[in-house]
Amino acid sequence: MKVKVISENEKKTKILMTETTPEEANAIRRTIISEVPVLAIEDVVVVNNSSAMYDEMIALRLGLIPLKTDLKLLNLPEKCSCKGKGCNKCRVEYFLKEKGPKVVYSGDLKTETGFEPVFKDIPITKLMEGQEVNIKCIAVLGKGLEHTKWSPGLAVHSYVPVINVKKHTEKEAKECIKHCDCEAIKLEKGKIVIDNDKLIYSEIKDSCLDACKNILDVKWDDTRIIMTIEPWGQIDAKTMFNEATKILKENYEEFLKEIKKLN
Ligand SMILES: [Zn+2]
Repeated sequence: MKVKVISENEKKTKILMTETTPEEANAIRRTIISEVPVLAIEDVVVVNNSSAMYDEMIALRLGLIPLKTDLKLLNLPEKCSCKGKGCNKCRVEYFLKEKGPKVVYSGDLKTETGFEPVFKDIPITKLMEGQEVNIKCIAVLGKGLEHTKWSPGLAVHSYVPVINVKKHTEKEAKECIKHCDCEAIKLEKGKIVIDNDKLIYSEIKDSCLDACKNILDVKWDDTRIIMTIEPWGQIDAKTMFNEATKILKENYEEFLKEIKKLN
């Protein structure tokens, strides 16, 4: 399989995979969502909470706050050298100590590590005059398989379209282009032409395919697949993809070992 980043920004990254199969792409997609670990708050010790919100409710909200994660510095508790007892390589402490009146935000979570909340403006609770919260939190790495709070983001994949233009009149071409503002489909000298390179980078809308169905013959190339990754912010899209391929390889090797045992 060959891999190339075709567009990239903070919110969305598109990766073109060629010489691949739908099965391979789907395995990577599923691994990204459910097996690439990230940090999330797992244990909460409530020393004091006189806000109107239950302890459990606050704990749930704390768990869902995305935390910056560095997979080079952190281990999954079960894979850590401390054997899951808890050390600074597998657990991160946070403190939330605030007095009212104020709204308590994710940005108020204090840590001595660099693993700060990704977003500072997620409301946790509201404190009135005289109310306070004093909470200690422990975050650990985990997998989306176990709980969505440990999922690093979304991943979807689609095939690259291959479009052939059928015989058509100028009138048909003009009617088609009226409903179509896709970059890859153009009207030139009264005829519809397709820029197949642009098909990789721009999406064709359903409304366009519908309006041009008499002119365009669309097929999908399942050996060229575009993976779109939207991270929640704990780790970036490239790390999500690379880690997923590593994990998939490990899982496969483990699977082979198990098969060998059976024989
Ligand atoms: Zn440890």
